[in-house]
Amino acid sequence: MHRLYENEDIVVFWNSDKCFHAKRCVHGCSKAFDPSRKPWIDLNRAETSEIWQAIEQCPSGALTCLYKHNIDVKMETENCRSAAYDGGRLIGECQYRQTEDEWIIYHTGVRPEFEGKGIAKRLVYKVLEAAEKNKVKAGATCSYAIKILEE
Ligand code: SF4
Repeated sequence: MHRLYENEDIVVFWNSDKCFHAKRCVHGCSKAFDPSRKPWIDLNRAETSEIWQAIEQCPSGALTCLYKHNIDVKMETENCRSAAYDGGRLIGECQYRQTEDEWIIYHTGVRPEFEGKGIAKRLVYKVLEAAEKNKVKAGATCSYAIKILEE
């Protein structure tokens, strides 16, 4: 399962397949990470620096985080894509084809001047999270998305 969590400053990625429940995150910052709560991650309950330090303790790589750089990423299911915006300007997208029971990601791209900020990862995670919430399988022919799926 792929999930994204955000506050004003950062985006946190959680890949449940990698999580072996060592709970270092919970011990590191119980305000943000609380398995008894739904959703169990809430980034608005603690300082970003405290959350960041707790994530650095994750031994499995299930939790990772990046700065947002004021870039918004949202789902646009009507266009079969997730899209990244700098203000109102489209600066990246992750497109998928929809079959009856599967979304197949075929392209992920970010404008060159915005590369290196983790935006492509956010775009792919956004589609994977939406597919999982819609109870459809997610696949990919796009090499970057394949890499994320194989992580
Ligand atoms: S520290 Fe990492 S592996 Fe441990 S419970 Fe948290 S997310 Fe899972």
